[in-house]
Amino acid sequence: MSRIQLLSEEVASQVAAGEVVERPASVVKELVENSLDAGARRIEVMMRRGGISLIRVVDDGCGMDRDDALLCLERHATSKIRTGADLAAIRTLGFRGEALPSIASVARFRLSTRMRDAVAGTEIMVTGGKIDYVRDGGDAPGTQIEVRSLFFNLPARRKFLRTENTEASHVEHQLQLQALGHPEVGFVLLTDDRTVFQLPPATNLRDRIRDLSGRALADELLEVPEIAFHGMTIRGFVGKPGVSRSSRAQQIVFVNGRPVENATLNHGLREGYHTALMKGQYPVTFLFLEMDPAAVDVNVHPAKREVRFREPSAVREALVEAIQRTLEGDRAQWSGAFAAPGIKLESPVPEEPAPLSLPGMAEFHAPQAPILPLGLTQQFQEPYVSVTMPEDGNEPLQQPPAVRTPMSPAPVAVPPPEPAPKQRFRLLGVLGKLYVVMENAGGLVLVDQHAAHERILFEELRRRMEELGVPSQRLLMPLTLQLGPRDSDWVEQNLETLQKMGIGVEGFGSGTWKLDSIPQFVRSEEPQQLLRDIIDELREVSSQSSKLRLGEDVIAKTVCRHAVKANDLLREPELIRLIEDLLQCDLPYCCPHGRPTMIQISYLELEKKFGRKA
Ligand code: ADP
Ligand code: MG
Repeated sequence: MSRIQLLSEEVASQVAAGEVVERPASVVKELVENSLDAGARRIEVMMRRGGISLIRVVDDGCGMDRDDALLCLERHATSKIRTGADLAAIRTLGFRGEALPSIASVARFRLSTRMRDAVAGTEIMVTGGKIDYVRDGGDAPGTQIEVRSLFFNLPARRKFLRTENTEASHVEHQLQLQALGHPEVGFVLLTDDRTVFQLPPATNLRDRIRDLSGRALADELLEVPEIAFHGMTIRGFVGKPGVSRSSRAQQIVFVNGRPVENATLNHGLREGYHTALMKGQYPVTFLFLEMDPAAVDVNVHPAKREVRFREPSAVREALVEAIQRTLEGDRAQWSGAFAAPGIKLESPVPEEPAPLSLPGMAEFHAPQAPILPLGLTQQFQEPYVSVTMPEDGNEPLQQPPAVRTPMSPAPVAVPPPEPAPKQRFRLLGVLGKLYVVMENAGGLVLVDQHAAHERILFEELRRRMEELGVPSQRLLMPLTLQLGPRDSDWVEQNLETLQKMGIGVEGFGSGTWKLDSIPQFVRSEEPQQLLRDIIDELREVSSQSSKLRLGEDVIAKTVCRHAVKANDLLREPELIRLIEDLLQCDLPYCCPHGRPTMIQISYLELEKKFGRKA
C-alpha cells in the first residue's frame, strides 16, 4: 500500500477547521459575516457558557433553498466567487466556502433556513461533519444556525479554550466589531439568557458608537472629515489629542468593511498622532478605509484578520493625512473658544509682542564657544523668571518674583484704558504654582504651565531644526567611545541625521568613534552617555518613522528638562505670553509627550455641576 493517502473529507474538514475555527468567537465571526453577506437587517446572537456549549445566530437575510442548504456544507462551496479573478474584486466578507463545513465538522450543528417567499424551509442536522437528517423546517424566513458542544470530537482543541468568561468576552468583542462595521443592522447579544447589548439599527456610526460604548467615549472622539487620498477614502472617528489606551483594544480599523490588524495601519496611526500620543499608549480609533479591492489582499490569513496592501506607503500616508487633518480641525475649534469676543481684558499685554525668550532657546542665540563638557549644566541653572523678557521694549524684567502662595493669585494689574483687541482670554491666577486659571469665551480653562511651555519649546526647536539644523557646541576635548557592531552600523547610517541634531561624530573604524560636538541646548555631564542613550532610544524609532521624527524625539526629551516647572513663579506678562504662544502652536492642547496642556471646562459643564441644567 502506498505511504501517501488522500485524507477523508471528514478529516480534511477538521484540519481546515483548525485554521478557521479557533474558539467560539471565530464561529460567531464566520456566522455573522454570512448573515451580513445575506443582507440581514437584524442579527441575534445567543451563547451559553462562553459559546462552548451553544452558539446560535439568527438572521433575517435572504435564506437558502434546499439545494443550497445542502451545498453550503460542502467544502469550497460558495455563492460569492466563481473565478480566480473574482478574488481580486471581493466585496463580500466571505469567499472561501470553508466556514460552514469546518464548523459543522467540529460541533453538533443545526441549520434551519428559509427563503422569504418559500412555503417551507429546510432543516439540516450535522454531527461532527456527518449529516444526521434533512427535513422541512418551519422557522421564520432567514437563517438560523446552532452550534453545540464545540470541539466535542477534538478534545485536544477543547483544552486550549480559556475560561467561559474569557471566551464570552471574545465573542462580545467580535460582535462589537461587526456592529461597528454595520451600524444600519440591528444586533442583539444574549449570554446565558442575559442581554449583553441590544443595538437598534442606527442611521450613522456616531450613534452606533454611542449605543455600544457609551456617551463618555463618544465625547472623546473627533469625526474624521471624509478624505480621498491616493485612491482611497477614509472616514470615521478618532480620539482627541491626549485620549489613549494602554493596549490596541480600541484601535479599530476597517478595510473595505473588514476589521483588520496590520502593521502598516499601526504605524500610520502612530505617525498621524505623533506627539499627541503618549509613549507606550495607543490611539482610540473607529476608522473605515475603502479602497479598490485589487489594492488589498484579504486572502492572507485563514480567519481573514490580516490583510496585505499592494502599496503600504500610500495607505500609511493617507492615514497620517486623515489624522493630522482631524487634529488640526480640532485645533481650529479650540481656538474658536479663544477667538470669540466678550472677554474683558484686565491685564496689560505688550502691543507689539517681543519674541519669546525662554530658557532653552536663549542658547540658540548664544555665541558658539567651545566649552568643557562638565561645565554644560551651569547655563541652565537660571530660573525661568530671571530670563530677560522686555515688558515694553526698553525695561528688562530683572526684578525678583513676588512671593506667591496658592491662595494669592497672580497680581492683577490695573485695567488698561483700552484693552488690546488681540486678547482672547482673561487670566485669573495660578493654582498650586502650576495650573494657570483663565476664562475664555467657552468658560473656564486650566493650563499646565510646564506642559504648555514644553509644547512651545518643542515646536520652536523643531521649526528651527527644520530650517537650520540644531546648532551644536564643540567639545573642548573631543571624546572617543567604543560602540558594538550594531550600534556602529546604526551611527554609520544615521550620521547625517545626527549631524542635523547637533551631534558631531566621526568614525575611526572597528567601532571607535570620536564625538566632538553635541547640541547646544543639551545639558549633559556625560556626552558619551548622551550618545549611547540617543542610539538606544532612537534605534527603534528610526525603523518606523522619518528621520525628522528622530530629531523630534530628542527635542521632546530635551525641552522637558528646560521647560518651566511646577513651582516656577511666572509673572503676569510671562503667563500671558506663555498662553498666547501656546495658542499659536500647531498642536496646542497637548505637550510633546501627549499629555494635555489645557483643559476646557465649558459653561455647560459648570451649569450641570451646579444643577442649573440637567
Ligand atoms: P463563504 O461565506 O466563504 O461563501 P461559508 O461556508 O461561510 O462560505 O458559506 C457557504 C455559503 O452558504 C455562502 O456562500 C452562502 O451562499 C451560504 N450561506 C451561509 N450562511 C448563510 C446565511 N446566513 N444566509 C444565507 N446564505 C448563507
Ligand atoms: Mg462565510
